Amino acid sequence: MRLNDVITDCIRLKLSGAATDNVIQCFGGNILRKEKPVLVIEVSSKEILLWMMQGATNVHVYISAGTFHVNAMYAPTVRFPAARIYFMKSKNLFWFGHIGVYLEQNGIKLTPVDDASFSKLIDETGYIQRYKPWYEKRKADSRLFDGLLGGRLKNTAVDQAIWLSFDGKCLVCGEKADRMATSTVWGKSGMMIGMHLCLTHEEESQKQSILLNYLSNHLGGIVMFSNMRPLTTEEMLEQTCEILKVNFKCTIMKVVGETVTARRQSGITVVIRHQSPSNYAYIIMTPEGKQLSRVDSADHHIVPYGPDHVHSDLRKSTKNVVETSFTYGHICLDMKLLLKLIQEAEDKL
Ligand SMILES: [Zn+2]
Ligand SMILES: [Zn+2]
Repeated sequence: MRLNDVITDCIRLKLSGAATDNVIQCFGGNILRKEKPVLVIEVSSKEILLWMMQGATNVHVYISAGTFHVNAMYAPTVRFPAARIYFMKSKNLFWFGHIGVYLEQNGIKLTPVDDASFSKLIDETGYIQRYKPWYEKRKADSRLFDGLLGGRLKNTAVDQAIWLSFDGKCLVCGEKADRMATSTVWGKSGMMIGMHLCLTHEEESQKQSILLNYLSNHLGGIVMFSNMRPLTTEEMLEQTCEILKVNFKCTIMKVVGETVTARRQSGITVVIRHQSPSNYAYIIMTPEGKQLSRVDSADHHIVPYGPDHVHSDLRKSTKNVVETSFTYGHICLDMKLLLKLIQEAEDKL
């Protein structure tokens, strides 16, 4: 996801420049670096630049190595340690003249800024002092999310993450937040999105099938991700069979109700039962039908980030030794762990 798309969406929703900048701060924490005291976002049109200038702390032109940077600067805040700069740039003097006229017609006057005053504007010298406590707090706030992410990176198709932060407060109302909420968006791979919500908004978010839909409603209807409709049982079965054939190189043996049974060339049998993301099981069996390993969602074991868990070895003594599986109950996302279990089963044959 690009911050630019976020800006475009915010403006489409008629959020003011300052409100758009607030949304950018929520996302921006993911790309902020200790070495860089400013978050720079190149915008795609002079109209957007003008929009962002209305509400900016400072507007100026900064000339560096023969390039004109026309900047809308938002000063660091208590919850975001770096200045945000929305800008357009060019080496072309005529472009600069043209944009200067356009802005002036809209009541914006650019002041020229040199290196020293630019550094002062963004309060470069104070950045590290602001960054350190911000980073520590962010790390503490997202600890739960980071743990979940670690497992998901290992066992599922998730390969990216965004932590939407509002200084540890509820992202919707800014009140004290007690709950972490996550949602995952996937296309070819998965992106996990996490945020804090207060109790009220967390409950509300659960009523809506997908957290992001909820969030986007509250941010005023930003639809950043469109491929998120939950699948019907038929579609789910179809997808499961497809994945078993293509990705798992299996032959489909039977489909009964919500359960698909398939077999690898080795004889190892894979059973996928999928009633819902909170009621599912993936079972790996020997050619004789003896269970070797299983991922399931039964709430029988106390595991962190449960109840989803994996029984890596179901042969007698280790039967009840389980670990968090970090799985979604959606085969598309859970393939990684399943392929590993199949591999292990075949190694034992
Ligand atoms: Zn709230
Ligand atoms: Zn179990």
